[in-house]
Amino acid sequence: SLPVEKYLPIEHACWTAGQPAPYLHLARTFDLVEREKGKIKTTAMLCNMFRSLLALSPNDVLPAVYLCTNKISPDHENMELNIGGSLVISAMEESLGTSKSKIHEMYKTYGDLGDVAQECRQNQTLLAPPRPLSVRDVYSTLRKLSAISGGGSAGRRKILVLHLIRSCREMEMKFLVRTPVRNLRIGAMMKTILPALAHAVVLHEKCSTGPVVSLEDVKSQLQSLSTEITEAYNVIPNMDLLVPSLLCEGATFAASSLAMVPGTPIPPMLARITNGVTQALKLFHGRAFTCEYKYDGQRAQIHRLTDGSVQIFSRQMKDSTSQFPDLVKMIKELCNSEVASFILDAEVVGIDRNKGNRLMSFQELSSRERGSKNSSIAIQNIKVDICVFVFDIMFCNGQRLLDNPLRQRRSYIHDLFQEKPGYLELAQQLIVEEDEASIDNSSTLHRMSSFFEKACQSSCEGIMLKTLDIDAGYSASKRCDSWLKVKRDYVEGLGDSLDLVPIGAWYGNGRKAGWYSPFLMACYNPESEEFQSVCRVMSGFSDDFYKEMKEFYSGEKILPKKPVYYKTDEQPELWFTAEQVWEIRGADLTLSPVHHAAIGVVHPSRGISVRMPRHIRCVPDRSPEDCSTATDVASMFRAQTRKMEVSSDGPGAG
Ligand code: ATP
Repeated sequence: SLPVEKYLPIEHACWTAGQPAPYLHLARTFDLVEREKGKIKTTAMLCNMFRSLLALSPNDVLPAVYLCTNKISPDHENMELNIGGSLVISAMEESLGTSKSKIHEMYKTYGDLGDVAQECRQNQTLLAPPRPLSVRDVYSTLRKLSAISGGGSAGRRKILVLHLIRSCREMEMKFLVRTPVRNLRIGAMMKTILPALAHAVVLHEKCSTGPVVSLEDVKSQLQSLSTEITEAYNVIPNMDLLVPSLLCEGATFAASSLAMVPGTPIPPMLARITNGVTQALKLFHGRAFTCEYKYDGQRAQIHRLTDGSVQIFSRQMKDSTSQFPDLVKMIKELCNSEVASFILDAEVVGIDRNKGNRLMSFQELSSRERGSKNSSIAIQNIKVDICVFVFDIMFCNGQRLLDNPLRQRRSYIHDLFQEKPGYLELAQQLIVEEDEASIDNSSTLHRMSSFFEKACQSSCEGIMLKTLDIDAGYSASKRCDSWLKVKRDYVEGLGDSLDLVPIGAWYGNGRKAGWYSPFLMACYNPESEEFQSVCRVMSGFSDDFYKEMKEFYSGEKILPKKPVYYKTDEQPELWFTAEQVWEIRGADLTLSPVHHAAIGVVHPSRGISVRMPRHIRCVPDRSPEDCSTATDVASMFRAQTRKMEVSSDGPGAG
């Protein structure tokens, strides 16, 4: 329930209607939000800020949304700010009259460049008041900074940063400096911004059409618009499309009305962990489902746009088209040209065509050259061939298929292309119909177990199970009960690996002196926006890797103190900024008095830890916030407990 009365005054509006909104309006809101811990109050503050924008400068809503979330474009456009801490420090030195060494010294005390800059500005006497910054000024300057490249780019970037810093008033400095170093520290993720925006839209409409008549009525509208916007963003995480549509439709906005556009990736649907074929069959009792090979490659979302071009997006929704010119060519050649546009879900796997189409491991595929942002690798230089295994379709010829059951979606795939073995294939599947889906049906269990065995023999990770008719829509961005995975690792030690973030380390001893060892690893809790420690890891690394990490975690990547959003009872000698994601595998999971992963979930005061962890690989295409969550760790812990309780009765069973 939300204290609606808190929304009523439009606070802090400091400009007149029709004028560009001042950046100060945002900075003042950020300052309030930074001091406030409660989600309800921060949502109310952000809502008020958006209400003022809606009333006075609606064109500034979109840039404000980006600035609040520390972004400048939808994630898939791969626009990077291209400004590092050193450039900001150099601009601070020039504009604030404080030497670099003093700035570094202050940074050690404050632990935040924004706070340092704010402090320096407070001690500075200005001859003339600076020209006020507007929201759109700041946003467009950040976009310009991102576009600068080529010779002399550092100098040109610095001029723009200087312009911004010199124009700062009040607390603008703190947030403006935090923006390029990518942490506003106001905890305003999309999860907070979207409801705030929804509430602002409802209240803006209510207040412009007359006094609020019924609080209850408003509350239900706030809730329902908030759900619609969040749902729309889960499917189409593109504020360039969402905000204009919301402003146009107001409180009547519906998630399903936001058109899917090929070229804008959909957050992929994910599967739940099970501990074997038996458990999976139990969960799907009485429902028709398909089992598919779980290929060990790289996820690829394939878009054909109406102009005939093809774009490929990674699991992280990054544009990876330049990495796969051969895949683009295959799609153009093998897909039915009468289908003008589509979005497919698939796995790209390395293949050795000289050895009977042997599938390669993920590691072999990742040794393939990568294209750069603007240029593809040349097809003739490709050393690792690929085969693409298509398993789903979400959009076809202007039609959104997310709510169609999987059985129907699959029929669209059949009409789309001719299979070409070793190049473009449908994922191998085994269908189990409704009347066969029972744990008492030994023939079903036998068929599934043999299918699982065959998948493992074909270098796959295991199998995926997906409902065909009931609850069988494509749930973008969700880990759902209608997709289950059974991985071969379940029969070998820890059921699944974890993707964890190094947040700190100790200095190594003996042979490892001079390097870091062990590293402290953490999972992420998106609810509390905290990194929670899971384990120390000190095995699975090569000497070269140790050297690389020693160089990588240096300078600004070493934090002066433990950030409040790192949760652990460990005391490493160094704290790192959250940068990388590593795949970690161990013997099993155990309750821990020092690690905080999923604390309070399976035990009131203990977290979960991995026993005997070892480093498997780096996961370069995953951002720290996309690592394993506390909920993943808790589900694995529970799955392991269940597994111990269930007796084994065949391959992959458990
Ligand atoms: P994992 O580390 O097990 O791959 P994940 O978190 O990346 O886990 P999951 O939902 O657990 O994702 O598993 C789905 C992943 O498996 C997909 O992201 C995809 O890359 C891969 N995959 C391979 N074959 C299939 C298939 N037939 N259907 C769906 N996903 C598949």
